[in-house]
Amino acid sequence: MSIAEKIAHIHEAIAAACARSGRQPESVMLIGVSKTQPQSAILEAAAAGLQHFGENRVEECQTRIPAVNALLQTPVIWHMIGHIQSRKAKLVPGLFQVVHSVDSLKLAAKLSQSAQEGNTQLEVLLEINISGEENKQGLNAQNWAKDAAVREALWQEIAQIAALPALKLSGLMTMAPIVEEAEQARPVFAGLAALRESLSAALNLPLPALSMGMTDDYPVAIEEGATMIRVGRAIFGERII
Ligand SMILES: *Cc1c(COP(=O)(O)O)cnc(C)c1O
Repeated sequence: MSIAEKIAHIHEAIAAACARSGRQPESVMLIGVSKTQPQSAILEAAAAGLQHFGENRVEECQTRIPAVNALLQTPVIWHMIGHIQSRKAKLVPGLFQVVHSVDSLKLAAKLSQSAQEGNTQLEVLLEINISGEENKQGLNAQNWAKDAAVREALWQEIAQIAALPALKLSGLMTMAPIVEEAEQARPVFAGLAALRESLSAALNLPLPALSMGMTDDYPVAIEEGATMIRVGRAIFGERII
């Protein structure tokens, strides 16, 4: 299958998942995760109409994104989906329009400062560690529904992030644990959706975006309310590295 055919196939699967859950397919943004893929694959996907691309290494993107942008007729939107070391935060607003991986107040403050210096605004999502796995990035939300102390700490940190001047906080992102069956990831997706509802009410913040679901589990994520899915292998094939 060509990249264009794979993208068409994913749009069909998005429509089917939306039909099952009473949603509109337009409410789901497909982000093609192009990390490690050659420039030619990104250009092919863009030519097939894909408008959103996800990358995870700031340093590589310093050359990669401008090089791709220079070859595109219609601009695309670049999403940063990987961990950002705070000393690299200053590079981010010049390259990316959306950051999914804000996992601390410290990083958020640096991003806001660099966006402000660049006279721009940056859309951000907060990466949430719903399952509390230790090797995972993200703000700790393990047991948030039952544990008032966890919830208070989380709400407080997020309120401070939301108040930063050059960030537009639009929602939450999570990575589901690696599981054998997509169905096993459902509680994590449902958990992020529930956290969003509770947080949004507590802080009086509209948080429309839920970034969740990858190649192996995006239909389940859509059924649980994903508005952004991050799909790599189903579009570009297996990664070389
Ligand atoms: C690599 C990556 C993806 C895409 O994973 P696939 O399984 O290839 O779809 C999505 N989200 C993040 C944060 C990633 O690092």
